[in-house]
Parts: sequence; C-alpha cells; structure tokens
Amino acid sequence: MLMKYALVTGGSRGIGKAVCVKLAAMGYHVLINYLRNKEEAQNTLTLVQEAGSNGDLLQFDVTDSSQVEAALTQWQEQHPENYIEILVNNAGIRKDMLMMWMENSHWQDVLNTNLNGFFYTTRFLLKNMLVKKYGRIVNVVSLSGLKGLPGQVNYSAAKAGVIGATKALAQEIGKKRVTVNAVAPGFIKTDMTQDLNENELKNLIPLNRFGTPEEVAETVCFLASEKASYITGEVISVNGGLYT
Ligand code: NDP
Repeated sequence: MLMKYALVTGGSRGIGKAVCVKLAAMGYHVLINYLRNKEEAQNTLTLVQEAGSNGDLLQFDVTDSSQVEAALTQWQEQHPENYIEILVNNAGIRKDMLMMWMENSHWQDVLNTNLNGFFYTTRFLLKNMLVKKYGRIVNVVSLSGLKGLPGQVNYSAAKAGVIGATKALAQEIGKKRVTVNAVAPGFIKTDMTQDLNENELKNLIPLNRFGTPEEVAETVCFLASEKASYITGEVISVNGGLYT
C-alpha cells in the first residue's frame, strides 16, 4: 500500500502535537513542522511512532516563503512518487496588546505567522492536491477570529483573515475533491494559554473548564479524514460552548 503523508505546521507542541499523534493513529506518515523547538518536535515523533506509524521532522519558519518553498521542494524531490494529501495549518502565535499601544511588530509578527504562514504553505501543497484530485486542508483558527476579543486586534484580524480565505478557497477547489475547513478552538490548555487563569476564566465557559489539545485534534482529524467528504468552507468551533 502506498504511504499517505500529512503535514502539520507547529507540530512540536500543544494542539499540533495532538494532531500529529491522531493522524499517526489514522495511519498517516506525519511530517512534523516546527520553528525552534527540536526537542519537543522529536518528542512528537516518538509519540507518532508509539501510535503505530512514522514521521519526519521538517524545520521551517512559516513566515518565510523561501524557507517554506525550500523545505517542501526538497521533500518533494526526495519523494517523487508521493504527495502530501493532508495539510493542517496550525502554527500560530499571539502577542496581545491593546490597539492603542500596539507596535508594528506586534501586528506584523501575528499576521505573518497566523495568516501569511497559511498562505505560503497552502499555496505550495495545493498544486499536487489538485493534480491528484484529493486533498484535505484544515486551518486552526480561533474563537477570537469569529467573535473578536479585546487585546487581540492583531490576532482576531489574522484568524478572521484565515476564515475568509478558507471560505474563498473552498469554492475555488471543490471540483477537484480538495476540501478546506477551519477549526476554531476556545481556551485550550497549551503553552499559549499558560499565562491565563483557568480558575477565573472557566466561569465564562458553559462546560466550565479549558479544553485539551486532544479534544481539538479529534475535530481537526475528522475534517482531515475521508469521512468529511461533503464538508468544505466550514468553521467548526471547539470551545466548550463559549460564545458570548
Ligand atoms: P503552542 O504555543 O503550544 O504551539 C505553537 C506551535 O507553533 C509550536 O509548535 C511552534 O513551534 C509553532 N510555531 C510558532 N511559530 C512558528 C513559525 N513561524 N513557523 C513554524 N512553526 C511555528 O500553541 P497552541 O498549540 O496553543 O496553538 C496552536 C494553534 O491553535 C495556533 O494557531 C493558535 O493560534 C490556535 N489556537 C490556540 C488556542 C489555545 O487556547 N491554545 C485557542 C484558539 C486557537 P516551536 O515549538 O518550534 O516554537
């Protein structure tokens, strides 16, 4: 049987790590992208192997189109018979600041990672998905991109941008059996939220707790599976009921 490949950006930690493990359990060979944290990426690879599959580390910075192109071109040249049929655009950062104090770098860094990263990686991998007439793209966005959150004008704008792109791209590529969807987590227990006080914030959440990376991974991997064949351009919230 031909090996099937999936790429998860930001697979070294948090939600991306859980997605890598679940994709491995689904039988995929997982390409684990990371920025700096090789040790954690290596740890993800061990978990992927324990889940019964295999993977490779693929270091590149999603904000740098030449790095994205170089890493993925090299992979493709080494695997001429294969293509990456699942792309999970998960790499993300937040740099919260009230807009009146927000510096250019707060705005640009967050837009570059969350929005431009989606563009560079997806544009590259899309071509083969269209040629092969099968592909799954899942974008990890946020409640912040749906509702807007104070202190996150940069992050809300970036995630809302990805949501708009998801809906537009879905209409461009549906005929080729390539779907593109988004998952919008609420508060999830990862490094990104370790500065937040769960005890206080959980009172806002109907399910009364932060979610786990594994709970987000379930939805991401459903959308990445063949079972989600008639869903595209959709945004699914995984937020414990937190809307207001
Ligand atoms: P973490 O901070 O735990 O992990 C972030 C991951 O992104 C790491 O693997 C990191 O790599 C990688 N990364 C960051 N910048 C880059 C880059 N420029 N190039 C490549 N990889 C990069 O985040 P979470 O798991 O919490 O978040 C994952 C996604 O979920 C993000 O898109 C986030 O916006 C979204 N999200 C998270 C929520 C939460 O409550 N946690 C809520 C809503 C959305 P490295 O380890 O090398 O630094």
